Amino acid sequence: MTAAGDVRVEPFDEYNRVLVAQVHPPGWVNPVPAGRYHLVVLGAGTAGLVTASIAAGLGARVALIERHLMGGDCLTVGCVPSKALIAAARSWQSAAESSRTFGGPAISGKGDFAQVMGRMRRLRAGLSRIDGASRYRDLGVDVFLGEGHFIAADTLEVGGQQLRFRRAVIATGARAAVPPISGLAEAGYLTNESVFSLTELPPRLVVLGAGPIGCELAQAFARFGSAVTLLDQADRVLPRDDPDAAAVVARAMESDGVRLGLGATIARVERRGREQIVHFTLEGRAEELAADQVLVATGRAPNVEGFGLEVAGVTHGAQGVTVDDRLRTSNRRIYAAGDVCSTYQFTHAADAAARLVVANALFFGITGGRVTRLVIPWTTYTTPEVAQVGLTELEARAAGRQIQTITVPMAEVDRAVLEESTSGFLRIHLEAGTDHILGATLVAEHAGDMIGEIALAMTAGIGLARIGSTIHPYPTQSEVFRKAADAWRRTKLTPTARRAFQAFFRLLE
Ligand SMILES: Cc1cc2nc3c(=O)[nH]c(=O)nc-3n(C[C@H](O)[C@H](O)[C@H](O)COP(=O)(O)OP(=O)(O)OC[C@H]3O[C@@H](n4cnc5c(N)ncnc54)[C@H](O)[C@@H]3O)c2cc1C
Repeated sequence: MTAAGDVRVEPFDEYNRVLVAQVHPPGWVNPVPAGRYHLVVLGAGTAGLVTASIAAGLGARVALIERHLMGGDCLTVGCVPSKALIAAARSWQSAAESSRTFGGPAISGKGDFAQVMGRMRRLRAGLSRIDGASRYRDLGVDVFLGEGHFIAADTLEVGGQQLRFRRAVIATGARAAVPPISGLAEAGYLTNESVFSLTELPPRLVVLGAGPIGCELAQAFARFGSAVTLLDQADRVLPRDDPDAAAVVARAMESDGVRLGLGATIARVERRGREQIVHFTLEGRAEELAADQVLVATGRAPNVEGFGLEVAGVTHGAQGVTVDDRLRTSNRRIYAAGDVCSTYQFTHAADAAARLVVANALFFGITGGRVTRLVIPWTTYTTPEVAQVGLTELEARAAGRQIQTITVPMAEVDRAVLEESTSGFLRIHLEAGTDHILGATLVAEHAGDMIGEIALAMTAGIGLARIGSTIHPYPTQSEVFRKAADAWRRTKLTPTARRAFQAFFRLLE
């Protein structure tokens, strides 16, 4: 038995001590390895945790290896802390807007950013029990804390102990990809791994990268009162999403005070005393911008290095570990799940992949499935939120699909009107000539919660007509789905059918 090394999370206050006590307990003693495991899982983020708990629940002998914090990015430096911050930022914004929009009491003075971060740490610590080492041990999983690496095609090593396996799952996740900008490393920067350790609000923040993480955090920090500039070489925010949806988010961020520098080329970053100076070119003009912090959010790099993939005979490329449609790698004993092998780098996608892997790895795929058959929605938690499921218009056309597109502005939905959140829209792409849904984009206050209805329809093969015959409560934002069905039905009414109806009603006069 070996003792795992201890870790710290800054600031190492009462909440982060609770977090660490759960997900990397100080003094944790790794168990003695069982003979040969049915399954060894490398990495205890969402993909690894879900794989391990389901497999152990089914009675398999399972080992789980984690070098840092169980829970992975989602719990520690991803979804959980970012959504806690976003909730606080929304609340600050609502309070600030209450007087202007709703005749509420005027507020003055600054908010308390340190309290925002303390609240986040408290909530994160509270959630951490569910991913904790002791809980997983109680679920029947052998939890090994330490750096794992393959030493053979059927063996992993951790802390000097060898774990032999029938099957293994690589679930090592991804990390912030830092672009090779001259001077950036010397000047210092934040990533998602350090931004949630801030205790003071940076008065001036430059965010590099206008993808989901960059947009969510840029808007949140602007709402807290930072002067935020968001720079990206792309000419729009959220490049993977519907361009009109991205435009709504861009306008919302600007109205929250974010300065957008799109189509920018970053030349270099330098440190001058306590400031970082970002040199960039925008619309042909060279500019320099002083910042108190620079946050890099320019994409994610899969964790494929340093743990012996070559020894195990597992191939990888720019997208991470190479897998087939059943998530099997080039070594038939080894599977992969989550950010390390997926173009959908989301917690729910990692969770879904883990479920497939258990079935495919342990039950020969009898109950399993193919990853390309999954319907995976995603949401960017800006205000308004942008949710997507299935194909965007560009993707549908690139795939040569004939589509019919129905768009309903949120301005036609009473609830959105009453809440003055009408800037968004629903856009549904149908297979031309049918009500079969190929994809949808929703831009609305709670788009992430609402998109589940379309994801369910796509998963269950339910068409837009049946959504239209589903009664939605009034007034809710989800009435937008029925309105889309009504709009589609109207397009089905041919001039001949309309004339026939008119003739029928004349007979009734
Ligand atoms: C700021 C931010 C916000 C996000 N918000 C959302 C959101 O709102 N919704 C959403 O769905 N997704 C969100 N995501 C994405 C989400 O966090 C990831 O998709 C998810 O964490 C992927 O899980 P995973 O298990 O594949 O990898 P990870 O969570 O990265 O876990 C991998 C684990 O493997 C461990 N590991 C790596 N190598 C080794 C080794 N050699 N030995 C032992 N252990 C190892 C790592 O320490 C880590 O704990 C966000 C991400 C970020 C960065």
